[in-house]
Amino acid sequence: MAQRVDHGVASGTFSLDGQTFDVDNNIWVVGDDEECVVIDAPHSVPAILEVVAGRRVTAIVLTHAHDDHVRVAPELAEATGAPLYLHPADEPLWKLVHPERPMPAPLHDSQQIGELTVLHTPGHSPGAVCLYAPDLGCVFTGDTLFHGGPGATGRSFSDHDTIVKSIRERLFTLPTATVVHTGHGNDTLIAAERIP
Ligand SMILES: [Zn+2]
Repeated sequence: MAQRVDHGVASGTFSLDGQTFDVDNNIWVVGDDEECVVIDAPHSVPAILEVVAGRRVTAIVLTHAHDDHVRVAPELAEATGAPLYLHPADEPLWKLVHPERPMPAPLHDSQQIGELTVLHTPGHSPGAVCLYAPDLGCVFTGDTLFHGGPGATGRSFSDHDTIVKSIRERLFTLPTATVVHTGHGNDTLIAAERIP
């Protein structure tokens, strides 16, 4: 059945290193009329379920373990019965948010989840991933690449040189017409962000 991307926004906070910020997170859902994959679990289970719109959720894929992306992940997994996935390198961040919860199932580079191919793109966090959907002509970049440039690397567990390398090697090598669906804010295109 034809695959499509559905979108919503959830508002809440992001906390790390003793600071807290108000943030709006994008909710991305990829699937057909029957079933879908949810990307990230920001702030509000009802807001995410509104985008799911009654479909069966086959997986919840977390782009990284900052609290604004995973805060309601356990509740969303319980509400949908779907498994959670996270790259194991983000375990220290997961433990900050959910110390009592087991790590989600491990993601690895090149793994296929439905329409999505996992690209391990460390830098914003050690286990940050992007999810490439070649048949849909888009990539979900979490906080690795935004409209206007790379994600933040000023806080713990981030590294600027590593994010630049990830973006150059794994994202700027995608077709230039690929639509970039980001973790916060507007879409962009690989062509628009690519540094010559
Ligand atoms: Zn983040």
